[in-house]
Amino acid sequence: MGKFIFVTGGVLSGLGKGITSASIGLLMKSRGLKTTNIKIDPYLNYDAGTMNPYQHGEVFVLDGGGEVDLDLGNYERFLDTNLTFDHNITTGKVYAAVIEKERRGDYLGATVQVIPHITNEIKERIRKIAADYDVVIVEVGGTVGDIESMPFLEAARQMQLEEGRDNVAFVHVTYVPKLKVVGEQKTKPTQHSVKELRSLGILPDAIVARSEDPLEEGARKKISLFTNVPEEAVISAYDVEDTYEVPLLLEKEGLGRYLAKRLGLGENEPDLDAWREMVERYRSLTETVEIAVVGKYVKLADSYLSIKEALKHSSVASGVKVKIRWIEAEDVEKHGVGLIEGVDGIIVPGGFGARGTEGKMMAIRYARENDIPFLGICFGFQLTVVEFARNVLGMEGAHSTEIDPQTPYPVVDLLPEQKGIDHLGGTMRLGAYPVKIKPDTLARKVYGKELVYERHRHRWEVNPEFIEKFEDAGLVFSGISGDDKRRMEILELPENRYFIATQFHPEFKSRPMKPAPVFRGLVKAAKERAKD
Ligand code: GLN
Repeated sequence: MGKFIFVTGGVLSGLGKGITSASIGLLMKSRGLKTTNIKIDPYLNYDAGTMNPYQHGEVFVLDGGGEVDLDLGNYERFLDTNLTFDHNITTGKVYAAVIEKERRGDYLGATVQVIPHITNEIKERIRKIAADYDVVIVEVGGTVGDIESMPFLEAARQMQLEEGRDNVAFVHVTYVPKLKVVGEQKTKPTQHSVKELRSLGILPDAIVARSEDPLEEGARKKISLFTNVPEEAVISAYDVEDTYEVPLLLEKEGLGRYLAKRLGLGENEPDLDAWREMVERYRSLTETVEIAVVGKYVKLADSYLSIKEALKHSSVASGVKVKIRWIEAEDVEKHGVGLIEGVDGIIVPGGFGARGTEGKMMAIRYARENDIPFLGICFGFQLTVVEFARNVLGMEGAHSTEIDPQTPYPVVDLLPEQKGIDHLGGTMRLGAYPVKIKPDTLARKVYGKELVYERHRHRWEVNPEFIEKFEDAGLVFSGISGDDKRRMEILELPENRYFIATQFHPEFKSRPMKPAPVFRGLVKAAKERAKD
């Protein structure tokens, strides 16, 4: 059984608890320990699948098809690992399991209660994962004091009792504001939030103090004194330029060493050389290209987190920094494609529903006609097909039946077996599926192989009835589904310098040192174009 590091949060949300947890994961992994991360989301939704990106940011998709919190994306990227649906524990999942057991009669007539039944279920789920690891980092979502997270914190407290203090550590992430008028870092919110945590029976082993500037010695001493945490375990996590710098900062501050010692995990020095090199490469980039992301949820940058990260990974690989121009598709409808002018590349990301679709197609057309490097993803792929049908093949009113069920040219449609679905949860094609890539295509060139596995999240497909017409007009479907061979997965326009779209989401598998090939290709093409 592995050891456990619980990460809790205090004072306010949005402090970067996810990045802190992912970073701790990396610090453990880089010490040669078998490490994994779990995210607890105290909401009642069963999973993130039905949530609007404006609520919690992007819905991340795993190989196995799980729709999960975006922090699992951070864990996968930092640890370069593939997680499963069980690594995201929600209140919804826990209660659903307990109620099912109650209905089955598993509890033998007992009154089913939060303690012990819900807490037991939580502990069981965490332990099941820990069986295969040396250390598991468990991030408890929300802020200490929220009603929703109480059962999870209670389960964590019980785990320390049952597993022994040597096997369970607590890291509390807090906020240390600086008041401009007095110019002093204030520790009171941290003191109060630790008090709250202790009232639940949890004594933190380390405090990660988030602040704008490095923690002043006085503040560190005060936090230590009032929270009973040794000074060496009051970690200053001040603002850094890029999230990938956080593990290096936390290591420098001694958090990795402290936790490894605290849990008896050995004294190995971490091997962070490759990570450090990646961070330094990124930091030293001077050349810049600008890429537009024309989407529907651009007001919240986290809605497209994995796309942002994939561009960063490609930056490091291509030696050029990417500046993203976030463009609301509806604004393109209102103000025209002038909003896109001057960029070196365009991405139209995934999405659902009608809002902004015409604007996205205006962007696609602009990319196609002006030979601007282009990547369409999922809904962006489908709209590329629609745009081509309308403006190249003259199929006026062509559309996806998702948006216009009465369209005269349903070029994107549900496959027959998917028609008649009556609820939205769990009816999509989700997760990694094989994609077979045709030889002598752009896709083959960027991937460098014939068979790849990419992650999907969609219901609609290119309508097979129209494929021949498209291909006769010069559009190439360079990737098709490797299992049933009926689905179009990648399209490209050989006439253009870089014009590619994918039915899958390549961003979900992009890693800092292994950028998603189609993103890497886009950034490279943008760089070349910028030079012209
Ligand atoms: N709405 C489209 C579908 O369901 C695309 C989904 C997406 O972009 N993730 O097929």
